[in-house]
Amino acid sequence: METRGYAVLEAGQALQPFTFARRELREHDVAFDIHYAGICHSDIHTARGEWGPAKLPLVPGHEIVGIVTAVGSAQTKFSIGDRIGVGVFVDSCRTCANCVSGHENYCLDGMTGTYNSVERDGHSPAFGGYSNKFVIDEKYAVKVPANLDLASVAPLLCAGVTLYSPLSHWKVAPGMKVGIIGLGGLGHMGVKLAAAMGADVTVFSHSAGKEEDARKFGATNFVNTTQDRFYEPMKESFDLILNTVSAEIDINDYLHLLKLDGTLVVIGLPGKPYPINAGNLLRLRRSITGSMIGGMPELQEMLNFCGEHNIVSDIELIKADYINQAYDRTIASDVKYRFVIDAATF
Ligand code: NAP
Ligand code: ZN
Ligand code: ZN
Repeated sequence: METRGYAVLEAGQALQPFTFARRELREHDVAFDIHYAGICHSDIHTARGEWGPAKLPLVPGHEIVGIVTAVGSAQTKFSIGDRIGVGVFVDSCRTCANCVSGHENYCLDGMTGTYNSVERDGHSPAFGGYSNKFVIDEKYAVKVPANLDLASVAPLLCAGVTLYSPLSHWKVAPGMKVGIIGLGGLGHMGVKLAAAMGADVTVFSHSAGKEEDARKFGATNFVNTTQDRFYEPMKESFDLILNTVSAEIDINDYLHLLKLDGTLVVIGLPGKPYPINAGNLLRLRRSITGSMIGGMPELQEMLNFCGEHNIVSDIELIKADYINQAYDRTIASDVKYRFVIDAATF
């Protein structure tokens, strides 16, 4: 099916209009019109070759929402007219222990990314959400709660679940002290979700001007990390800290903040190794770990949680021809707090 989108056609170039074909419906497939697609910083890392050379042409976008237009003959999950969402992967092996337990994001054979990957037929390129139409197996799509604004839901499909998953895994609850480093697309979702789970939330930001928003999203404390030894007043007090920063930072500064058995979760991935001072881990038996998006059951659970708590992303809605400027503004931490593309403009 003919699809219009935006793509990187040659390494180092800006995104530009690109027309391509999506597959015809298979029996378990759902087709939908994309209405909105969020711009995740991972799109930018990939498009600009920061995680290695991308598979070209590259149509980024893995925060996708729309309305179902057709369903395959054996498909049972969606009806025409339903609100539908697709996140960071469109398939996985379906048979490994992690797929079977609903952790498809950790598929032992590697998940099939929504873009910059090859479909499991071994040859078709996967094209992402910066486009006007999509086709996917029903198993890898989720239902979007009816009460949430569709454009503002798009970022939940990556940013939302990427923060929900570690908050849920480390059992965030009232009485816990949670830190979020970086108030960007991921970070602002982390604040909203952790606050809704009852945690006492602190934002660590290098942008002093974001304090009012941090508090509006539910943070009780805001720490300006450009100040020397910013960690001193709150050191040894946090249960869980999530690092969502897209750039290189010294994460050793943040280890000082963890209390006994506290955990620092690395989520932001600038692409270079982080040097760790192991002495900071031994002291107070601290842990450092990572977390990558979430599995399909968790993706639906997160959307349902957001539906119940009326949580969406704060967005700036843009037209397709603004994508390249949006990239530059995201890198400059100048977005409140996620760019979302209106797919009617492709
Ligand atoms: P984003 O919207 O650009 O937010 C990143 C935030 O990091 C900025 O808002 C800024 O917050 C802070 N920051 C940026 N440059 C900085 C610098 N030079 N020094 C200190 N702080 C800086 O990006 P995002 O979409 O949230 O993604 C964040 C990272 O997570 C990216 O690396 C992305 O690839 C990765 N990611 C990981 C997963 C996963 O599954 N683990 C999923 C999606 C994305 P302040 O202005 O508040 O300081
Ligand atoms: Zn993402
Ligand atoms: Zn698998």
